[in-house]
Amino acid sequence: MDIVQNLHTIRNPLPEEVTLVAVSKTRPVAMVEALYNAGQIDFGENKVQELLEKQPQLPGQIRWHMIGHLQSNKVKYIAPFIHLIHGVDSLKLLKVINKEAQKNNRIIDCLLQVHIASEETKFGLSEQELTEILISGEWKEMEFVNVRGLMGMATFTEDSMVVGREFRNLKRIFEYVRSDHLKEKSDFTILSMGMSADYMTAVEEGSTMIRVGSLIFGLRQSP
Ligand SMILES: *Cc1c(COP(=O)(O)O)cnc(C)c1O
Repeated sequence: MDIVQNLHTIRNPLPEEVTLVAVSKTRPVAMVEALYNAGQIDFGENKVQELLEKQPQLPGQIRWHMIGHLQSNKVKYIAPFIHLIHGVDSLKLLKVINKEAQKNNRIIDCLLQVHIASEETKFGLSEQELTEILISGEWKEMEFVNVRGLMGMATFTEDSMVVGREFRNLKRIFEYVRSDHLKEKSDFTILSMGMSADYMTAVEEGSTMIRVGSLIFGLRQSP
């Protein structure tokens, strides 16, 4: 299988405003390097440990995205280099990121994860919890984090009507947050939604960032 060909097949038809994050979890660094040499610079990992193993072996120009659930006590390891943290789901985590970013004298971009799927297991804030965080305004005082947008995962189902409805709901929340809470903020622009199975639906519904793994690299071995 030609992963570079797969990359181009997915990336070339994307609208200009949509960023493709190649999800390289469980894949060897040689594959990441092959895609990097083909012009891909955004890569996503969901485990801190794996990210820390790969990052030093690969070019410094790569933009690493933390797409998985992040524990507060692990923020310090990725704070020196992480490009975007997708899965922020509490004010407490945001505060820790702010502290660790300050230690590294950099601003870390974050997305707040919203729970849009019907499954219980997926992480993320309810719309109510999201609103509470936004209203509290504490995040605005944080000098070293920049909340750039929202992230969400749809229900794992073949039913594209369900998936479309969930993405539409996230897009609605995104627009509402922008107009109600962030009138003065112009860089709240990232809506991270869509994976291999549903990225086309996500793009139709207004995604600006898709996270695609198996469609580029092939199926992952399940653990
Ligand atoms: C693994 C993962 C992806 C990519 O999944 P594929 O189905 O392989 O495209 C996207 N987002 C998150 C949060 C993931 O953990």
